[in-house]
Amino acid sequence: ASGTGVGGIHYYSDELYERARRASRGEQLIRAALACDGVLCFLQPIVSVREGGRVVAFEALMRLRDGEEGIALPGAFIEAAESTGLIHQLSQQLIDKALHILVDPAFTDRFGQDFVININLSRHQLKDVMLVDDMMTLIHKHGADPRRVNLEITESAVLAEPAIALRNLVRLREHGISIALDDFGSGYSSLSQLCELPLDCIKIDRRFVMDLEHEPRKRHVMTSVIDLCRRLEFRVVVEGVEECATLRTVCDMGAEQIQGFIYARPMPSQDVLGRLNATLLP
Ligand code: C2E
Ligand code: CA
Ligand code: CA
Ligand code: CA
Repeated sequence: ASGTGVGGIHYYSDELYERARRASRGEQLIRAALACDGVLCFLQPIVSVREGGRVVAFEALMRLRDGEEGIALPGAFIEAAESTGLIHQLSQQLIDKALHILVDPAFTDRFGQDFVININLSRHQLKDVMLVDDMMTLIHKHGADPRRVNLEITESAVLAEPAIALRNLVRLREHGISIALDDFGSGYSSLSQLCELPLDCIKIDRRFVMDLEHEPRKRHVMTSVIDLCRRLEFRVVVEGVEECATLRTVCDMGAEQIQGFIYARPMPSQDVLGRLNATLLP
């Protein structure tokens, strides 16, 4: 940071410095994790309230091993992974682990033959012309059913390179893979995407769910969004439900699938069978 005493400049360079520091820390984390099989697959269940709390899917959430005991969250490395392109290698390893879980007999015995795994795709991956082939290679390697794979994308990721992204999405769906629009309602997603993108599922963002009970406008918008998605025949997942009151509210609005701390936090995949039943209570 400069010591000039000019407030604005001082602040600006501090922020740049902080960002650069975080990026290089993120890159260190990533390289260390790649060197020691430290890409970890955490899972968070997605629950169907219509089916009495049955676990119908898991979202695979990436974590990196950090030292002996530590675990790094995406906030510490996803940006660096994107800017360095290392996201490809990280994601390849995460997808490999997620697909392994999908066909693991211990998991299918507990959660059924048709539970789904949700995997996040970044901007970089969506514009990669090898995306579909790489994905199908991994799916075949595990003998997995592509209809049990749901890829989560964001509008901003599509907009980075819309033509290639769109082509990728169409091809993925031709293989039977389904597509979810993530973080809907977070400010970066617009209604036009609901008309234009090939989609199967909408995930309503956590920020939109917060304080729902106390904000009548949010409630009206939420009710309409859920209704709209049903008319468009999209599955709707409401994310980030933490409180019973919120759960009741969104269920009254017709929400069918819920993901949130109210059921379970993301956990290491090896803990799932010890901790989660086939149906969950709030
Ligand atoms: P996301 O895709 O929106 O994932 C959901 C995030 O919300 C997760 O954070 C999850 O822990 C958190 N969450 C779930 N339920 C609740 C709740 O009830 N309350 C609160 N406060 N939070 C909840 P996480 O695991 O830290 O991931 C953050 C973001 O990192 C993800 O947001 C996603 O954008 C990105 N990410 C995670 N794994 C991957 C990956 O494998 N590839 C890519 N490209 N991005 C990933
Ligand atoms: Ca997601
Ligand atoms: Ca989300
Ligand atoms: Ca997000």
